[in-house]
Amino acid sequence: MRYISTRGQAPALNFEDVLLAGLASDGGLYVPENLPRFTVEEIASWSGLPYHELAFKVMRPFVAGSIPDADFKQILQETYGVFAHSAVAPLRQLDSNEWVLELFHGPTLAFKDFALQLLGRLLDYVLAKRGERVVIIGATSGDTGSAAIEGCRRCDNVDIFILHPHNRVSEVQRRQMTTISGENIHNIAIEGNFDDCQEMVKDSFADQGFLKGTRLVAVNSINWARIMAQIVYYFHAALQLGGPARSVAFSVPTGNFGDIFAGYLARNMGLPISQLVVATNRNDILHRFMSGNRYDKDTLHPSLSPSMDIMVSSNFERLLFDLHGRNGAAVAELMSAFKASGKLSVEEERWTEARKLFDSLAVDDEQTCKTIAEVFEATGELLDPHTAIGVYAARECRRSLAIPMVTLATAHPVKFPEAVEKAGVGKALELPAHLADLFERPERCTVLSNDLKAMQAFVTEHGNRGKPL
Ligand SMILES: *Cc1c(COP(=O)(O)O)cnc(C)c1O
Repeated sequence: MRYISTRGQAPALNFEDVLLAGLASDGGLYVPENLPRFTVEEIASWSGLPYHELAFKVMRPFVAGSIPDADFKQILQETYGVFAHSAVAPLRQLDSNEWVLELFHGPTLAFKDFALQLLGRLLDYVLAKRGERVVIIGATSGDTGSAAIEGCRRCDNVDIFILHPHNRVSEVQRRQMTTISGENIHNIAIEGNFDDCQEMVKDSFADQGFLKGTRLVAVNSINWARIMAQIVYYFHAALQLGGPARSVAFSVPTGNFGDIFAGYLARNMGLPISQLVVATNRNDILHRFMSGNRYDKDTLHPSLSPSMDIMVSSNFERLLFDLHGRNGAAVAELMSAFKASGKLSVEEERWTEARKLFDSLAVDDEQTCKTIAEVFEATGELLDPHTAIGVYAARECRRSLAIPMVTLATAHPVKFPEAVEKAGVGKALELPAHLADLFERPERCTVLSNDLKAMQAFVTEHGNRGKPL
C-alpha cells in the first residue's frame, strides 16, 4: 500500500515510512492511495471473529508490503490482549435499537488506547528491524498523553516525553501519566498552559538540532496508523448488529475529526453505514460546517468535555481531499486561504455530497449533564461527558428508528468526575479494578519553566533511555 499527501506535492510513502512521518513535507496529511474495498460476502464471513482477528482482516491491506502476516497477527493479538474486557469493545443497549459501543476498556480508559497501544508496538517493530531509535515529544491536555505513554512503555527503541500544563490537568489524568514507570518514559509539567506546551512541540519539530540526529516522531491524531486502528471497531459493532446485511448508524463525539473519519473510511471500504452524526460541544466548528457550510475558526471555550475543546479539526483536511475529487492542488489552495482568513466553505454540490452521510449537533454543558443523569436513571449506564454528547446528538439527529444507532463511548466516566458530579450521579463513580490503587502509586514527573531551551536541554540529557543522546 502507498500513501499520498492531501496537498499533492509530497512524495508517496509506504506504510513503514508513513508510520514515522507525521505531516507530509507539503504540509498535507497522508491518506491511502487506493482504499481497500471488501464485498458484503467477505465482511459477513468475519462475523464472530475475536477482535484481534477481525482487526487483522480489516487492516491487512494497509500494511501489506511492510509487515508480514504472521508478525502483524502477533502484534494485534498482543495489542488487544491488554484490554480489560474480553470482548475488547462491548456493546450495551440503552433503548430499542439504540446502543453504546464501550471503547474504554483499555489501559487508560479512553478510546485512544485502541490506536496508541497498536502504534507503540508497530513503531518498536519497525525500528528494531531498521536498527533505529526515535524520540517522541507530545503535548497533552489529558487523554492523549497517558494513552501514548502506556502505548510506548514497553518499547525498546522509543523514548517518550509528554508535556502537560503544570496543575492544569485533572488528578486522575495526571496520575495516569506520572505513575507509569520506565527509563524511557518522561513526564514534564510545564509552568504554562496547554498552548505553551503545544507550541514547544511545534518548535521542536521545526528545529531538531538538539536531538543530535535522532529522529523525532509525532503521535498526535494526524498519524495515519491511529486512524487505521479506529476503522476496525466500526466493523466490529456492525457485525454484532446484523451488518453487513443491514446498515447501521453511528454517533461520534468529535474534536479533531479523527475517530469519525475512521467511520467514513469503514463505509467507503464496503461496510453499510447509513448515517454518521458529528457530535460536538460548544467548540462547534465541525457542526457549523455540516449544518451551514461554514468552517470558521472561533475562540476556544473550555467545557466539561475537555478532550473535544478544539478550535480547528486537524483531520478535516482528509475529508476535504475526498470532497474535492482527491485534487491536492485544490486542497492546498483552500487550506492556504483558511490559514490567512480563518474561514472556509466549499462549493454547494460538494457540501451536499457530505450531507448525504453526515449530520451534526453542538451540545452544551447543561444538556450534557442532563443526558448523563437521564441515561443513568433509565438504564444504569454511567456515561462520561463526551459520550453523553454523542448520545444526545444521536437522539436528536437520528434519521430512522429502524436502523440501529450506535454511539461511541469514548471514555470511562471516572476520568471526568466533574461532569458526572454536576449531573448528580457522582456516587456511582468507581475506578476499575486494574486502576484501583491509582491514588497510592508513586508519581514521577519533572516540573520545568515555560522555556523552550530548558525543555530541549532536558530531552538531550535524557533521550537515550534516561541517558544523554
Ligand atoms: C480524543 C477524544 C475525543 C475526540 O476524538 P477525535 O478523534 O479528536 O474526534 C472524544 N472523546 C474523548 C474522551 C477523547 O479522548
